[in-house]
Amino acid sequence: MTVTGTTAVAGLLGYPATYSVSPALHNAAYRAMGVDAVYVVFPTKAEDLTTAVSSVRALHMLGVSVTIPHKEAVVALCDELSEQARALQAVNTIVNDSGVLRGHNTDGEGFVRSLVDVSFDVAGSQVAVIGAGGAARAVVDALARHGAKEIAIVNRSANRAADTATIADVARTGDATDIAEADLVVNATPLGMVGEHEGVSPVDASVFRSNQVVVDLIYKPAKTAFLEDAERAGATTLNGLGMLLHQAALQIELWTGRNAPVDIMRAAIS
Ligand code: NAP
Repeated sequence: MTVTGTTAVAGLLGYPATYSVSPALHNAAYRAMGVDAVYVVFPTKAEDLTTAVSSVRALHMLGVSVTIPHKEAVVALCDELSEQARALQAVNTIVNDSGVLRGHNTDGEGFVRSLVDVSFDVAGSQVAVIGAGGAARAVVDALARHGAKEIAIVNRSANRAADTATIADVARTGDATDIAEADLVVNATPLGMVGEHEGVSPVDASVFRSNQVVVDLIYKPAKTAFLEDAERAGATTLNGLGMLLHQAALQIELWTGRNAPVDIMRAAIS
């Protein structure tokens, strides 16, 4: 694509963010859609966040994605918040609507959309979420909005589990028994991720059942110890690549008003 005087800019605010696959996802989509825009990474330190967000308005950018460690801090810098962003008090997408900065959160909805790949129907389901941080909160909120019957939150710190359980009426704190009884089990901890936690699972392999759908929000490695254990028990498994893909697709939909080419985006990062 040729960059001209009319090319719009979108980007990512995070730190460090240079490892991100978001440029590959977004730029492949813009090319396929014929959208005259480029997506770049803006490594942004906490002390520069206010200036960076003001620049979205000043430079007439389409908007920005927001990632670690700024998803919570950016809430106060938006002019308006979507229902999800307000409920989570976390923003992963800013839309620049003629100078009005609207904060959204597409993480949870992206997660629910990724479940289509394993034909999982959220409505009426019993869920166990392991972890109670930002990703777990987004997942719990979205599952509740899509009609999950019950969501048990299993976390190392009991007080954080209790706090995350306040996000939805159908959520409560839980334990290993809830994992064994769930239709859908989600790992929302970093245990298993490439690096210091690789090869570690947050739960004992005995909790898995063959009739479960088991999702790890981690996508590096593609198959964690958690997913390997679940697969051995006969469960259907999915990693976090789908969530990453669909939260980006939703951002593109917010910025352009058009459906994103999900298959092309998937190919761009495979
Ligand atoms: P976070 O806010 O830091 O929360 C981490 C959670 O994991 C907390 O509940 C924490 O428990 C728990 N935890 C951390 N270390 C642990 C350990 N050693 N033993 C037991 N529990 C531990 O992180 P996050 O932003 O929610 O991210 C969680 C995971 O989701 C990460 O792996 C991240 O890469 C992934 N993620 C994926 C996507 C995607 O698009 N696929 C998007 C967002 C996040 P305590 O409360 O006890 O500290």
